[in-house]
Amino acid sequence: MIQRPKGTYDVYGNMSKKILYIRKLMTSLMEKYNYEYFRTPLFEASELFHRGVGETSDIVTKETYDFKDRGDRNLTLRPEGTAGIVRSYIENKMYGNGNIVKCWYFGPMYRYERPQAGRYREFYQFGVEAMGSSDPALDAEVISIPVNFYKLLGLKDVKVKINSLGDLESRLKYKDALLAYFRPYLDDLCDDCKERFEKNPLRILDCKIDNHLDIMQKAPKITDYLNEESQKHFEAVIQYLKAMDIEYEIDPNIVRGLDYYTHTVFEVEANVEGFGKTCVLCGGGRYDNLVSNLGGPDTKAVGFALGLERLLTILDAEKIDIDDDNQLDVYMIPMDSKQKEYALKILNELRMNGFNVDMDYMGRSFKSNLKQLDRINPKFIIIIGEEEERNNLLTIKNNQTKTEEKISYNQIVDYLDDKMKDIED
Ligand code: AMP
Repeated sequence: MIQRPKGTYDVYGNMSKKILYIRKLMTSLMEKYNYEYFRTPLFEASELFHRGVGETSDIVTKETYDFKDRGDRNLTLRPEGTAGIVRSYIENKMYGNGNIVKCWYFGPMYRYERPQAGRYREFYQFGVEAMGSSDPALDAEVISIPVNFYKLLGLKDVKVKINSLGDLESRLKYKDALLAYFRPYLDDLCDDCKERFEKNPLRILDCKIDNHLDIMQKAPKITDYLNEESQKHFEAVIQYLKAMDIEYEIDPNIVRGLDYYTHTVFEVEANVEGFGKTCVLCGGGRYDNLVSNLGGPDTKAVGFALGLERLLTILDAEKIDIDDDNQLDVYMIPMDSKQKEYALKILNELRMNGFNVDMDYMGRSFKSNLKQLDRINPKFIIIIGEEEERNNLLTIKNNQTKTEEKISYNQIVDYLDDKMKDIED
C-alpha cells in the first residue's frame, strides 16, 4: 500500500472542521485589521530563498526541498512565506506613492526537518507582512494580531516575548562583542555553533543543543549594544504594546532563526496546562533590509508567521472545543426513490437560497434513514411522499421540538428563513 510521505498528514473529519473554523476566524480578523489576502507560488527560484532567508540559516543549509524542473531551472518549495511575498511586492511594483501594503497568507510550507512531535515536512503557516513603514506602532499592530487571534480562539495565558536586534550598526558592534565572548569557549560549543561562530554568531544564542549552557545565559545582551535610534524604536514598540494591554517580557535571547530580521523580534507563547510547559506558538519581527536585499527600493517592513499544527495541538491540550456551528439546516428524506427528482428540486432551491442541505445517497429505506438522524443531527427534516409530490407540498419536521407541518413548495424558503431567525434568537 502506498503511504503518505514522511512528515506529512491528511486532513479529514473533525480536524477539517477545526481548520475551516480557524481559517474563517483568521479571515474575519484580517478584515477587521484591513489586511488583504495574498497568495504566491508554492515554489520559487531557489536563489530567492538563498538571498532572502539567508545562506547561513538552518532552513537554507539543511531543510529546503530543492529540485530542477524539466527546463533545468533550480527551484525550491517555499520553506516560509515572507521571501515570496517580498519578491511579489518588488516584481509588481507595489511600492511607491508612500504606499503601505498590509497583507496576510495561509498556506503550506516545506522544510526537510527530522519528523518529531509537532514538526512536519509539510506544515501550514498563517502570517502577515506589513511593508512600507518604519513606524514602531506597526510593529505593535503586527504583534497584536497573533495575540488577539489566540485570545479569540480561547487561549488564556498568552504572552509576548520581545527583543530588539537593532539596526546594522548596533548589530555589528554586538557581533564583535559576541565573538570576543565566545572565543575562549569554542571547544564547549556544538559543531553547528562552531560554524555559526564563523558565519553568524548571533545564531549561537538560538541553539537548541547548547541553550542549557551557563555561558549562554551570561553572554553579552544585544540590548546593551543598541544605538540611540534602535533604542528609541524598541522603547516605542514597548509603549504601544502597553497601550494595547498586551502582556510582554523582554527576552534578550530571542534572535530568531532567519537572517533577515532587524530591530523588533518577538515570539508569542502560551502557558498550556495539558502540554506540561510553555509553548512557543509563533514568531516574527521587523525586516528592514530584506526588500532592498532582494533588489527592491529601501522599504521597511514587519511581519510574523504562526504554525497551524502546533495551534491545533495546544487547543486539544487545553480542551478547547472549537464551535464551528456547522449543523446541517435540512436533511431531505424521500419516502421512495420515485420522489428523488422532486427532492433534488427542493434541495437545489434551498441550497441556492443559503441553507445547508443534504439527503441520502445510499439508497436507504425510509426507516433506516430515520435511524441515521441522531448521527446527522439536522435542524429540520423534509419528508416527501407520493402525496406531497403530487400536490407540490412537503412535510417539514423540526428535529428539536419534533413538531411537523405540511406546507407548499412555494412557501419553503420563507418558512425556513423565519424558523432560522427563531432558532438564532
Ligand atoms: P519560523 O518560520 O521558523 O519562524 O516558524 C514560525 C512558526 O511556524 C513556529 O512557531 C511553528 O509554530 C511553525 N513551524 C515552523 N516549522 C515547523 C514545522 N516543521 N512543522 C510544524 N510547524 C512549524
